[in-house]
Amino acid sequence: MKIKAYVVHEANGPYLLEDVELDEPKSGEVLVRNVATGICHTDEFGRSQGVPIPLPLVLGHEGAGIVERVGTGVEDLKPGDHVGITYAFDNSCDACKHGEPYYCENFNPINFGGVAATDGTTRLHQDGRDVSMFFGQSSFATHSVAAAASVAKVDDDIDLGLVAPLGCGVQTGAGAVINAGQADPSSQVAVFGCGAVGMSVIMGAAVVGCKTIIAVGGNPKSLELARELGEPRTPSTVARWRTSRERSVASPVVAPTSAWTPPETAT
Ligand SMILES: [Zn+2]
Ligand SMILES: [Zn+2]
Repeated sequence: MKIKAYVVHEANGPYLLEDVELDEPKSGEVLVRNVATGICHTDEFGRSQGVPIPLPLVLGHEGAGIVERVGTGVEDLKPGDHVGITYAFDNSCDACKHGEPYYCENFNPINFGGVAATDGTTRLHQDGRDVSMFFGQSSFATHSVAAAASVAKVDDDIDLGLVAPLGCGVQTGAGAVINAGQADPSSQVAVFGCGAVGMSVIMGAAVVGCKTIIAVGGNPKSLELARELGEPRTPSTVARWRTSRERSVASPVVAPTSAWTPPETAT
């Protein structure tokens, strides 16, 4: 089927909205009409060819939308289901079999190799050429074909714009503090960098009830939000590191303080 997708043709090139051909879902795959997608620094890493994914390429790895069709063998999803799409995994290596797909032994070849998770080929084409997929979904597009195993059904009344970042940034941050870090109410957590992942660490730490949350970042507005997100369960401590311009003379280290004041109003 013909879809519209943002295609990157060269390293650091622009995202160009173009016609692309998308294959029908194969066995174990679903076709999703994307309603929302997040954007993450890893997309930009792909666009800059920091990881050498074959070009041309359609990025996007935090898709959320509505299932339109399912391939053979898909029993737990049906057309009309609202879903979020996450990273791809082979669903067959030891890590995947043990319920740890985030440690999939083929994580890099699948997610950064330009191919679908299920058979090592791409579902995207343009003018007779293959176009690389990203994270098995390429969600910077009107539609994605993704492995059903990487697609999670959500309730119909949830804003799909909020579901999208769960696919990467939110689970990365919250998982780091809750699962990998095993934080508990006695924990003191310091978060360096307050983007989507850092904010998700802060929210995860607040959910766990960590006794101290220290947010360190360079953007005063982000730090205000970090303080708000850390509040529900615990007071947060916020520190601001100096931006590269401010850092040119002084030491880059700023000690955390519990009485941080935005620089505009500092005396
Ligand atoms: Zn990401
Ligand atoms: Zn695996």
